Amino acid sequence: MDSILVLTHADESGSALSKASLEAVTAGMELAGKLGAGLAIGVVAADAAAVHALAATGARLLAVTGAEFAQARYGSDAAACEAICRAAQASLVLAPGSSRLARVAASVAHRLGGCIDTHISAVAVNGGIEAARWFYRQRVEAVVSRAARPWFLLLDAGTHAAYAGAPAAVEAEQVAVTLPPLRTTVSGFRMPAQDAQTIRPDAKMLFVAGAGWTKKQPDGQVHAEEAGKLILGFLRATGASLGSSKSLVDQGSEGNFVLPFLTHLNQIGQTGSTPRHAKGLATCCHGEEPHVVGWRFIGARRAISLDPNCGWTRGKADVVYIADAFPVIARLNALLEAKKA
Ligand SMILES: Cc1cc2nc3c(=O)[nH]c(=O)nc-3n(C[C@H](O)[C@H](O)[C@H](O)COP(=O)(O)OP(=O)(O)OC[C@H]3O[C@@H](n4cnc5c(N)ncnc54)[C@H](O)[C@@H]3O)c2cc1C
Repeated sequence: MDSILVLTHADESGSALSKASLEAVTAGMELAGKLGAGLAIGVVAADAAAVHALAATGARLLAVTGAEFAQARYGSDAAACEAICRAAQASLVLAPGSSRLARVAASVAHRLGGCIDTHISAVAVNGGIEAARWFYRQRVEAVVSRAARPWFLLLDAGTHAAYAGAPAAVEAEQVAVTLPPLRTTVSGFRMPAQDAQTIRPDAKMLFVAGAGWTKKQPDGQVHAEEAGKLILGFLRATGASLGSSKSLVDQGSEGNFVLPFLTHLNQIGQTGSTPRHAKGLATCCHGEEPHVVGWRFIGARRAISLDPNCGWTRGKADVVYIADAFPVIARLNALLEAKKA
């Protein structure tokens, strides 16, 4: 009989669990329910109060807490996760595929003599346990089952709802950790200004800019500067994440004007990323197949294009506005600003 451990960690506050961790908790509870298996949840956090969010899960709670675990660091995180796994003795370990756990999970699995699969999007019980993941840019779905235990599964973010049971004061079993010499000190964070940080995986909406923004418009002129202002205004007002078509981000290498806040990291598609957001709005983008491949996990799709024969109108979007995106986004931004004020 399998038993389940969910490994979780705190967010930047140190006292609350990260959203991806709460998603892993949901996955663990669902799987434990299907298997009728015991469930333990392990927490790595600076503050022991981080476990309060799990009070209503009814799971066995294990925690490694203290100042050494405030920041992500390979040595301390791997030791903490190993200690929790040894205390829980679970045969299945579910963990969020966050940068913090992705960095240590494979080595923890190795230390426990187990094996690991990453980018898991679903876990099902079908005779045995089956973990699903996508390959080849989300075109091929594989279902993996293994006899080896402990089996670690790193879950992709956005594949489960975040657990949201009522928090209450609760104490977890504190797990002792023998730390190795810590050679890495985290001295702080250096990150781009909020405006420059355009890729926001947790945003509800994805806004995609296509090459049309920097093409000659009906007046025969290019309005790239205005395009940049409109796009950034929309992102500011909505908190949306910014994606791009390949054509738009490639323009720089062809010597054309580029929107300065876009890089290849923003590119969505077959050779770009496959983000997960509840909604997506494509603007000035043609909706060609290699681009739309990256929209596979976007729940509701809308597009604004001048071309009534664009790919979006051919079944790739739920709603298509055949309109000039410049005045549409300008009006939308004005309405959003008015609503805020
Ligand atoms: C192997 C391979 C892999 C690829 N991988 C990717 C990938 O990962 N991602 C990707 O994006 N592409 C990818 N491509 C390229 C893809 O096929 C398209 O060429 C690209 O997505 C087109 O980008 P676009 O729609 O922004 O530009 P365009 O095709 O130039 O379309 C611009 C659109 O903007 C519209 N427009 C212009 N002005 C306005 C306005 N004022 N208001 C509204 N609409 C306006 C036009 O009508 C037009 O429909 C790949 C291609 C290949 C062969």
